[in-house]
Amino acid sequence: MSGRVVIVGGGIMGLCSAFYLSEWGWDVTVLERGKMGDHGASWGNSGYIVPSHFVPLASPGVLRLGFKLMWNPSGPLGMKWSGDLLRWNLQFMKFATADHVRRVSPLIRDLNLESKRLYRVMGSDLGWEDMPVRRGMLMVASKQQTVDELHHMAEVGRELGLEAEALDELGIAQKASGVTVKSPGGCFFAEDAHLNPGVVMDRLGRFLEAKGVEIVEDCEVDRFVRGGRGIEKVVAADREYEADEFVVTAGVWSRKLVEDLRIEIPMVPGKGQHMMVEKSPVRLEVPMILEDARVAVTPLGDSVRFGGTMELGAWSSKVNKARLGGMKRSIRKILPQFAGSLETVKTWTGLRPCTPDGLPVVGRPEGYSNLFLATGHAMMGMSLGPVTGLCVAESLSGAKLTVPIHALSPGRFKK
Ligand SMILES: Cc1cc2nc3c(=O)[nH]c(=O)nc-3n(C[C@H](O)[C@H](O)[C@H](O)COP(=O)(O)OP(=O)(O)OC[C@H]3O[C@@H](n4cnc5c(N)ncnc54)[C@H](O)[C@@H]3O)c2cc1C
Repeated sequence: MSGRVVIVGGGIMGLCSAFYLSEWGWDVTVLERGKMGDHGASWGNSGYIVPSHFVPLASPGVLRLGFKLMWNPSGPLGMKWSGDLLRWNLQFMKFATADHVRRVSPLIRDLNLESKRLYRVMGSDLGWEDMPVRRGMLMVASKQQTVDELHHMAEVGRELGLEAEALDELGIAQKASGVTVKSPGGCFFAEDAHLNPGVVMDRLGRFLEAKGVEIVEDCEVDRFVRGGRGIEKVVAADREYEADEFVVTAGVWSRKLVEDLRIEIPMVPGKGQHMMVEKSPVRLEVPMILEDARVAVTPLGDSVRFGGTMELGAWSSKVNKARLGGMKRSIRKILPQFAGSLETVKTWTGLRPCTPDGLPVVGRPEGYSNLFLATGHAMMGMSLGPVTGLCVAESLSGAKLTVPIHALSPGRFKK
């Protein structure tokens, strides 16, 4: 089955959905409220493709860490309190159990592995020989307790069939090849990869337009009009768009967009920020996560991106200088060769769409036969873009799903 589809939101979910829907023969229009690249989390994230991130955000470890870190104004985690965030946290606490982690880890692993495979296929079809780059991911601890936790994570990763290695101080130095890392140990996930998210978004956008996908910029959807099979059209200022199917991929803003349809997605923003060192003082080959500082370090050609911080409930695009300072202090301690280069950096912020169970929301909301949601990917949206787009196309086309996604259904929070 195919027809006309309108996608609301031009981030990685919107573009990947457009990519697969147009492959499946749909006539696709993407509505983006800004200019491509102005808004959204998809352009400036750390670019990690992460089979290693099989533990959902809602986990006992994150809960414990959260209570410890949230009081530090220059630390990696903060809360912008509101009634909404309080409700979200109560739900989060309910989900953050070892049982939940055991139940959902295999699905998160499968989604990430399939998405990585799809990026590779997309890359070779579109002539992107340079990405994604598979050099693995080095997770680096600053204290012994974290070393033990990372060694345990590597063990669980191996049980899940992933290539994971526990490392001591020497092992970290060997993997970091030439970059000084002050760390007593950590672990290495060989199957992780990375890419330059801005470049991917840009190339994907241009490829889609060349293929006949209509991308409408400066087009903020205000509301949906109900009728017929569920939704008749969307209204954006003075314009209206009718279609057979509607897909909402508006990131964290998806929640407000569907509220009027009585669809509830308990989602809050997790504001993050990055700083770019344009000319790296040292050749960094392998991406790293400085685990205790929660800083992701991505090599992007001659540049290095340091991404981090999570401010839950923060509906803002302002850089948090205190937390940026905290990131810099940690980097100087763990990666001393970068100390001097942190003086002049370019900064960016983005809002991760975070659900309380740490899983994305991908599926049809109850009562709407021509509406589909694809959002809530939190820290893994870049990684899960292709597999989500494929699931969108398969679902709308009535095809068998490559990865079963019933656990991601929007109705799951009603139970
Ligand atoms: C610092 C940081 C580092 C990260 N690192 C990684 C990483 O290494 N790997 C990874 O997998 N993920 C990472 N993420 C997460 C990832 O960036 C997100 O999960 C992902 O970008 C979400 O994509 P999206 O398409 O759902 O939303 P977005 O990218 O936010 O796109 C939503 C789009 O919808 C548009 N929109 C909103 N409302 C409307 C409307 N009413 N009408 C029309 N358009 C609308 C917005 O303008 C926006 O362009 C990181 C995030 C941050 C902040």
